[in-house]
Amino acid sequence: LRDEIGRMERLSLVGQMAASITHEIRNPMAVIRGFVQLIQERSPKDQFEYFRIIMDELDRANLIISDFLSLAQNRELVMEKGSINTIITDLEPLLLADANLRGQSMEVNLCKDLPLMKLNDREMKQLLLNLARNGMEAMGEKGILRIWTAHQNNEVSVHVSDEGVGISPDKMKNMFEPFFTTKTRGTGLGLPLCLSIAERHGGRIDVQSEEGKGTTFIVTFIIMEERGEHNNP
Ligand code: ADP
Ligand code: MG
Repeated sequence: LRDEIGRMERLSLVGQMAASITHEIRNPMAVIRGFVQLIQERSPKDQFEYFRIIMDELDRANLIISDFLSLAQNRELVMEKGSINTIITDLEPLLLADANLRGQSMEVNLCKDLPLMKLNDREMKQLLLNLARNGMEAMGEKGILRIWTAHQNNEVSVHVSDEGVGISPDKMKNMFEPFFTTKTRGTGLGLPLCLSIAERHGGRIDVQSEEGKGTTFIVTFIIMEERGEHNNP
């Protein structure tokens, strides 16, 4: 019965989201259509710019679709024993390149004796990538994005901290809702996806924020500690 209720809820959520996504995908599609129409009668210089816009909008539509799919699919995750530290180390070059492009920097601090936990590698990467990108997008040049892991009692946590604009109480209330965004080019699917991934790993997300100062997202997982299964970096 519990499964059945879960299924019904998911189906109705998917229905609501299908309506929203149709709307969201139409925006980039309309832009692309407009520019494709214009392109033939323009100078090579304009054409170059229009191709860039078209590529950007295609990327955006793609992102919306893939985020939406991961959120809607909700299929059984393949979980394997792994380390959040490894996930972060794998993502680091990508994040660093992104930060540097924005004139920002990044500091990573990994807990030395972080226990392993059951995780889905791809989803966990997606979770951290989304939080890190949000952090970067909230900051101007010279901002520092900090990522660190911690281990306390039977919990493992990963912290993603930025020196950005911070989050007002009003935004705080809505930001985990699908399609809530304050960005002109946002999808509003990042945080709902993060939450869904955290929950599917038995975890939770806490947020500490000060407007004008910055924000820290803390994702915490409960681990079933087993002797001799520590991660040795
Ligand atoms: P998107 O990034 O596409 O806007 P998200 O679901 O990732 O969608 O985030 C929703 C909203 O939450 C953002 O538009 C922004 O207003 C707010 N937000 C998320 N992370 C941060 C952050 N680190 N600092 C400030 N605001 C944030
Ligand atoms: Mg985002």
